[in-house]
Amino acid sequence: MSATFFAAVRGALGAGAVDVSDAVRAEYGRNRLPGGDRRPAGVVSPASTDEVATVVRLAGEHGVTLWPTSTGRNAGLGEFSPVREHQVVVHLGRRMNRIVEVDERLGYAVVEPGVTFRQLRAELARRGDTLMLSATSGPPDGGILGNALDRGAGYTPYFDHFGMLCGLEVVLPDGGVLRTGDGALAGAKTRFVNKSGFGPLLDGLFSQSNLGIVTRAAIWLMPRPPVIKGFAFAFPEDDDLAEIFELVRPLKLTNAVPTLVKVTSGSYGFGTEERYPFHRTGGAVPLPDEVRAELQDRHGTGAWLVSGALYGPSEQALEPGIERIRAHFEASGKATYVPHERMVEDPVYKIHLDTFGGEPTDRELGLLDWRPGGGATWFLPATPMLGEVAQLHQRTSRKILTEHGFDYMVEFVCGPRAARALHIIVFNREDPAEVARMNAAYQALVTAYDELGYPIGRTPTDRQEWAMGRLPEFERTCSRLKAALDPSGVLAPGKYGIE
Ligand SMILES: Cc1cc2nc3c(=O)[nH]c(=O)nc-3n(C[C@H](O)[C@H](O)[C@H](O)COP(=O)(O)OP(=O)(O)OC[C@H]3O[C@@H](n4cnc5c(N)ncnc54)[C@H](O)[C@@H]3O)c2cc1C
Repeated sequence: MSATFFAAVRGALGAGAVDVSDAVRAEYGRNRLPGGDRRPAGVVSPASTDEVATVVRLAGEHGVTLWPTSTGRNAGLGEFSPVREHQVVVHLGRRMNRIVEVDERLGYAVVEPGVTFRQLRAELARRGDTLMLSATSGPPDGGILGNALDRGAGYTPYFDHFGMLCGLEVVLPDGGVLRTGDGALAGAKTRFVNKSGFGPLLDGLFSQSNLGIVTRAAIWLMPRPPVIKGFAFAFPEDDDLAEIFELVRPLKLTNAVPTLVKVTSGSYGFGTEERYPFHRTGGAVPLPDEVRAELQDRHGTGAWLVSGALYGPSEQALEPGIERIRAHFEASGKATYVPHERMVEDPVYKIHLDTFGGEPTDRELGLLDWRPGGGATWFLPATPMLGEVAQLHQRTSRKILTEHGFDYMVEFVCGPRAARALHIIVFNREDPAEVARMNAAYQALVTAYDELGYPIGRTPTDRQEWAMGRLPEFERTCSRLKAALDPSGVLAPGKYGIE
């Protein structure tokens, strides 16, 4: 069936739009997850919304299933590889990578799926830097749309990347093209500025789902502040976390700090620059506390590094705010202040400054090499901004990871009410015993957090079907939507467990 599909796509889009070679299938099947690589049946690369619609129609006619992806840099979450083997990867980003429009007065850019953080950053600089991007701390060549649709997030006030999309253009499983919000009316002039127009808000149906392929949208952009001034504080003890959360919450509830506030474990901080010191541990894992303390000292991270930034018209205008924040944290008697000037120079802190200013950075990717063997996965629950809950989460995760031989590497990205608790687990994917321990650890983490009442969010592709199985009524409703929009199951069956 797939041979006739590929022939039909070649006929309609040209030979250059299809690749079914072994090398390319292996490349697009590769990922870092414990579940193993998953090869697609082939890769198709449409160049326009019409071509995407053609691919979808042909897939329906030939009984082929599609895996849409934009730039495939979902490191530790699945990258290009489909949720199931033999789905056909639709690599949208290869030939659909135009910044269609930038509106500097209303603050938005209309982008195709291949537009990357690096590319949009460069375009904004070329235009005189009036607008600021909200980038991730992940791969600079990750894409604006793929990241947002997977509900990725950044660190500026525009951190909620999916929330900052407006006017989605979506190819539906039957090949129809839907424009959401005001875009539903042909020629609407408010398409990229007004989401809440007429009728139900449909945008959410197309994030973390398999109900449509998004071919363009506007991403809203904030005016770039003239001055961005960072601050950071190192706290010495693991159990300082409870107090830190209590200190951060009022700063975010009152918006005294406009960026999100990062609360980064020492090992997540220095892990970007160091490699696991097996020579120091005699091969043992995880990192013994005394070696961790030494590395924390060497990099000045403490057990926790707290960071944020202020925006304003001038250095002078920001000084009183920095002084107030300094007094706020230093009153704990535990915080060591790290000034902006040090943050600029030291790579461990520079990542923080970059992300608060919307600068893509590849420095944090060093975490992927913390331990050898190429494995990485993310465990991503949310933590309410309550000291005692953060402490409970820390103790729960640290215990489970330590018992299974993994390092507790976590960054809490704090808003007013909840933090994204970014746990990265780096492991040796070439060692089957370590992969088995990794799977057991992940299972134990999810089970423990479920029992405590704190579910996971964004999930690696190799665990999505299992994760959906925990949510019977939600699954039933998603399946009914799927049956209505995609009765023959053309788009990525199994993605986020939706069949
Ligand atoms: C060290 C490190 C730090 C990281 N930091 C961050 C961070 O700060 N914030 C963050 O969010 N992530 C972070 N990540 C995770 C990840 O690498 C980024 O989110 C990355 O941008 C996602 O890949 P992408 O942009 O190429 O999206 P893609 O891989 O193209 O897409 C992601 C998923 O969305 C779906 N999708 C994509 N395009 C479409 C479409 N057009 N229509 C329908 N569905 C689509 C697909 O199912 C795809 O699998 C980090 C990773 C690492 C290793």
